Formats: sequence, structure tokens, C-alpha cells
Amino acid sequence: MSRYWSDLVRQLTPYVPGEQPRGDGLIKLNTNESPYQPSPAVLTAIAAVSGDSLRLYPDPESVALKQAFAWRNGLQPEQVFIGNGSDEVLAHTFQALLKHDKPVYFPDISYSFYPVWCELYGISHCDAPVVKDFSIDPAAYPADNGGIIIPNPNAPTGVLMELDAIRSLLRSSCDSVVVIDEAYIDFGGESAVRLIGEFDNLLVVQTLSKARALAGLRVGIAMGSVELIEGLERVKNSFNSYPLDVVAQRAALASLADEEYFQQSCQRVVASREFVCREMTALGFAVLPSAANFVFATHAQRLARDLFVDLRERGIIVRYFDKPRIDNYLRITIGTDVQCGALLSALRDLI
Ligand SMILES: *Cc1c(COP(=O)(O)O)cnc(C)c1O
Repeated sequence: MSRYWSDLVRQLTPYVPGEQPRGDGLIKLNTNESPYQPSPAVLTAIAAVSGDSLRLYPDPESVALKQAFAWRNGLQPEQVFIGNGSDEVLAHTFQALLKHDKPVYFPDISYSFYPVWCELYGISHCDAPVVKDFSIDPAAYPADNGGIIIPNPNAPTGVLMELDAIRSLLRSSCDSVVVIDEAYIDFGGESAVRLIGEFDNLLVVQTLSKARALAGLRVGIAMGSVELIEGLERVKNSFNSYPLDVVAQRAALASLADEEYFQQSCQRVVASREFVCREMTALGFAVLPSAANFVFATHAQRLARDLFVDLRERGIIVRYFDKPRIDNYLRITIGTDVQCGALLSALRDLI
């Protein structure tokens, strides 16, 4: 606490991201990064950035990138917003589209950054409980709300919500914005982007951090109706005109252009995920059905908290959340074949 802090800053409880260990040799399965490198075309594009282009400010609107996303998704460029990682896009979304008199609703088990943005922007929020099997029931969301935000697949459970359920939410909440946070959609889910033409209250948020292996680059996007995107642009242009640097814009474009490499790395992760699910189930874990690049699992005989500590002692970092309903679960990112093998052999020893 400092007497120089504003009242708001005194009250904040900031988000704490998963550990980024400095030392080598640890097997890092805690923050859902890709185990594979980005497309080689990305590295070529970064190497080709000239001193002259660094001398100048970047394109404030990331026009080329907006066009590329629009084209891929059958949208107009005015229906695409670009930000410095989807965390920034989501922050702007809370301020521009979810701050109203009525509370915003999100699942009681979901991305733990959502309540932090609510606190930062003074937005009231309510939990909508997930079902016992961790699926999301649209009936848990009252029609009278200030907005809804749901990760799909959900984080940290990996459980996928079908488009029909999303459609019914969009219908029942037609007077407020429904945000679908699709950080993990490329690992097996169907994107809600195809519903944008039908619903002008739908905002779909995506990131290049997970499936495209560019967490270090910081590129996030939102897609929706022109009026929703315009709202986000108004906040962005009142906050930072240049959220994406020259390097990020060029590299993101190169990643989008290499569809084949992208599909292949997604398929490899999905195949490893299915393998890890089977093997952990054989060890006595209950593993939730995952459509993401991680698994969420609990064991009847061993406490998750103890397993987390034991794995850490063996050089394997996974994620443990000391929170109601999930305090006996581990969230484990899918790694390379070698990393998954090391995880499974450590678990075999520990169980
Ligand atoms: C990882 C993640 C994000 C943040 O992604 P960035 O684009 O790296 O900021 C947003 N939402 C969910 C649910 C995530 O898991």
C-alpha cells in the first residue's frame, strides 16, 4: 500500500498468470502454450522487418491483418478488431460492451481474469453455475443481464459448448452482448463465427497465442457486427492507437498464410491429448472430455494439491487452482510426445 495510490488501485486484486520459470530443464505444462514452434514462415517474416519500418509507427488499424481475418472468416474488415493479445481485446470488451447497470454473467468456473476486469472497470457480475459434469446450461443465464461472457471450450475445464446452446443464449439475451472467448476453439470445436451474420449481439474473441504458437507475439482479435467492433475501436483509440507493433503485424500475417502447418500442429496436439486422456484414465483419473490443448483431471485416491507438489519436485509444472468446486483437479497442458511421456511416467510412479 502506498499513499500515492488511487482508491481504485488500493482495491484491486490483480490477475496472477501461471508461472514462467526462468531456469531450463523444467517441463512446462502450466499455461497452455503450444509445444511446437510457430510456422517457419513467421520467423522469415520477422527476419525481413527492415530498420526503416521500425523507424516509423506501425499501421494503427492493422488493415492488412484485418483483411486477412475477414477473408478467412467470410466477414468484412469492419467486422474485425485487433488487439495486443486477446487479454487486451477482452479488457476493451468489458469496458465498451459489458459495462451496464445490470450485472454481467459468466460461468462460476471459467477464466479467472474476467472478475479482475470487472473490478478494474467497476462492473457488477454474477456467477452462472456450470452443471455437475462441468457442461454449460444456457438456462443458467437469466434473459435480463448486462452481458454474458463464456470461454468455449471452457477454461480451465476444456469442456465444449455446442453451437445450438450458444444460439439459444443469443436468442434469449437479444438485448445484451454475448461474448464467446474462443482461445482454444482450433483444437476440435466449431467456431461461433458462423453465427455472426445471424446475431448482431455476438462477439467472438480469438487469439494467436495457443493453436498458432504465438503467445510471445501478443495478437488477439474480436469479430462481430460492425456496431460492436466500432464500440471496441472507440475504446482502443482512447487508450493506445498502436496496440500491435510492426513485427507482430507482419508475423501474424505470415502465420495466417500458412494454413497447412497450422492444421498439422493442431492435429498433433489433438492426437497427443487423446493419448494422454486414455493413459490417465487407465491410471484411475477421471478426465473431463477436452476440446482444448489441455486436460482437466481428478484422482479418487490422490489429492490434486499433493500431485501438483510431487510433479513439481520431478520438474513438471502443471496448474492447480485452489478454488471452490475445482480444488481437487489438475489442469495439464498437452506437450510434445517426449513431455507427455515424462508426465505419464511420473504419474505412474506417484499413483
Ligand atoms: C490464454 C487465454 C486468453 C488470453 O490469450 P492472449 O491472447 O495470450 O492474451 C484469453 N482467454 C482464455 C480463456 C485463455 O485461456
